[in-house]
Amino acid sequence: MSDPFQSNRLTPDERRQLADWDRRFVWHPFTQHALWNKADPLMITAGLGEYVFDADGNRYIDGHSSLWCNIHGHRRPEIDRAIVEQLGRIAHTTQLGLASPPAIRLARRLIEIAPAGLTKVFYSDDGSTSLEVACKLAYAYWHHRNQPRRDRFIALREAYHGDTLGAVSLGGIDLFHRIYKPLLFKTEFAPSPYCYRCPLGKCRETCNLACADEVGRLLDENRDRIAAVVVEPLMQAAGGMIAAPPGHLRRIREHCDRHGVLLIADEVATGFGRTGRLFACEHESVSPDLLCISKGLTGGYLPLAATLTTESIYETFLGPIDSGRTFYHGHTFTGNPLGCAAALASLDVFESDRTLDRLPAKIHRLAEHLRRLAENPHVGDVRQCGLMAGVEVVRDKTTRESYPYAMQVGARICYHARGLGVIIRPLADTIVIMPPLVISPENLNLLVRAVEQSINAVLPDLSRGTTDGLE
Ligand SMILES: *Cc1c(COP(=O)(O)O)cnc(C)c1O
Repeated sequence: MSDPFQSNRLTPDERRQLADWDRRFVWHPFTQHALWNKADPLMITAGLGEYVFDADGNRYIDGHSSLWCNIHGHRRPEIDRAIVEQLGRIAHTTQLGLASPPAIRLARRLIEIAPAGLTKVFYSDDGSTSLEVACKLAYAYWHHRNQPRRDRFIALREAYHGDTLGAVSLGGIDLFHRIYKPLLFKTEFAPSPYCYRCPLGKCRETCNLACADEVGRLLDENRDRIAAVVVEPLMQAAGGMIAAPPGHLRRIREHCDRHGVLLIADEVATGFGRTGRLFACEHESVSPDLLCISKGLTGGYLPLAATLTTESIYETFLGPIDSGRTFYHGHTFTGNPLGCAAALASLDVFESDRTLDRLPAKIHRLAEHLRRLAENPHVGDVRQCGLMAGVEVVRDKTTRESYPYAMQVGARICYHARGLGVIIRPLADTIVIMPPLVISPENLNLLVRAVEQSINAVLPDLSRGTTDGLE
């Protein structure tokens, strides 16, 4: 087969030059540059379907969907075409004081497919901003309803809602969030549904969702102080692919209903088919009051986000111009037409590919692989929801002891997998398997086999004890 990416390759000189400029000029996210700067970066220059290609033309399976967002593969002709067609009209116009057809059409479409009760779409740029919007809407809603004392949120430990300060205030990952504590608003935290290391010391068979009931307890304790409860439905993603037990989301919805408190569902990671349904909330027939979506919204093509909300929230913001009810919030690129065109095309591909109908077989296949991996002596736990999974490696399977963070075991395993033609990224010692939904069964096999081989290759060495040269 001829290489379709000849023109995307770089000469060794170009590559060296760019690597040098990368070290000199670029500050990468979530990256310790004292380490990064010691090696040449892997440069991705092209993609096609479920593959990405590096500067030398090497091909890799995109095992993390280019950070959890790619759905239908790279360079989908339908999405490419929709963006190009929109480019032929206009690349950007604003939502402030003006309307644009792609944003209107997409909003209508989103309301059609979203959980019942959601009727309005507020656009923003990325997952974090969609949470900022949800948070501010929830707070202002109570303010407009003359309950301004409802100024607090309940979130879950190990939650990740983004990196802006409001989203960080709702976040429960110590490693990322602790140093910013003095800057954050106060949030009440309920336990994470992390069954493998249950924070309540219970066991799954008999716990009766005690962790979800802690949300109820916090609502009781903070009577009339809570504006909303925020959750990642079914799967706490960045916290380590922590799969909540069935009924967890529903139970939290019930506690919210009993207290008349809003529920914010952060489906930035779980939305758009990732869990097997279009939205994770559907698995438990839950309708949130605010729904945050982003990553998969454009098929993973362009930055775009939305916060969907109900008529009753929307209505509290209506009033005369001097009523103080206007939602004074918006971003420059809110509702960008290229992003909206991509999102509309992506939703069309969901239909033409019958993406959701094809998922059960893949989900089942992934589950079979994970069952085998669970037997691996280095693997403590496997967690899956649809086509998102985490494989947690441990130093001692009996005691569930983890490797020290400094050993960067997850990162080493993922680095090894590159040599096997797979791009993946860990969350601490949890290896994330999250391919584009379009992935073929064969490539799903290759992907999980590569994870397995990498675990087996990297860990026996480390278990033998030395940590020389690891820093
Ligand atoms: C990625 C993510 C976010 C943040 O999205 P950004 O686009 O990175 O700002 C928020 N919530 C969840 C659940 C996520 O996975």
